[in-house]
Amino acid sequence: MRVRMLAAAWRGLLDVLSPPLCAGCSLLLAPSEEGFCGGCRPLLEPLSDARRRGAAYAFGGPLADAIRAWKYGGRSERARPLGALFAAAVEPWAGDVDLVMPIPLHPRRLRARGFNQAAHLAAAAARTLAVPLEVGTLRRVRDVGPQAGLGAQQRAINVRGCFASRAVGAPRVLLVDDVRTTGATFAEAIRALRAAGAHQVHVMALAGSEE
Ligand SMILES: [Zn+2]
Repeated sequence: MRVRMLAAAWRGLLDVLSPPLCAGCSLLLAPSEEGFCGGCRPLLEPLSDARRRGAAYAFGGPLADAIRAWKYGGRSERARPLGALFAAAVEPWAGDVDLVMPIPLHPRRLRARGFNQAAHLAAAAARTLAVPLEVGTLRRVRDVGPQAGLGAQQRAINVRGCFASRAVGAPRVLLVDDVRTTGATFAEAIRALRAAGAHQVHVMALAGSEE
């Protein structure tokens, strides 16, 4: 009881020190709002065929702003609302996957950014699905540089052979990334995981663009 009161007091103190802001537009959130404000939340576009498309939301608007601020703008507090959004979106996978894995960053990029956004989303998904999170099995063995600005064919060529995988711990894998563009990265990772013993590899990104 005492621990719970202390935890509540601590959360209250944190809210005073850094009040919760909208992940999209950085406006102060009302007490009834969670993650995104009343102006931004209606602009999030859930994809109706998310499982088939391998992405939960359309990339754009406040979601794109939140992802960019998180990855490139040093706004680490965006991790929580985006993790919550993704966790809710993976619920339909319950019972269909044995473990969750993130698309890894190359160690050099991981050092530069300080965190892997896909690993954070994968952890949120694993908690929701109550299955293990497997980090380190799938590895980037080649740093391919940015994919932005490349066409679909160039992207596929660019990522060829960039992943390697140790033996996969279970037959059905949910592979997670923050943004799915042409699917070239997922396709290459699937190839590495299949070669390492995965029977089924499902993919899911928080946001999907193009196509
Ligand atoms: Zn907002």
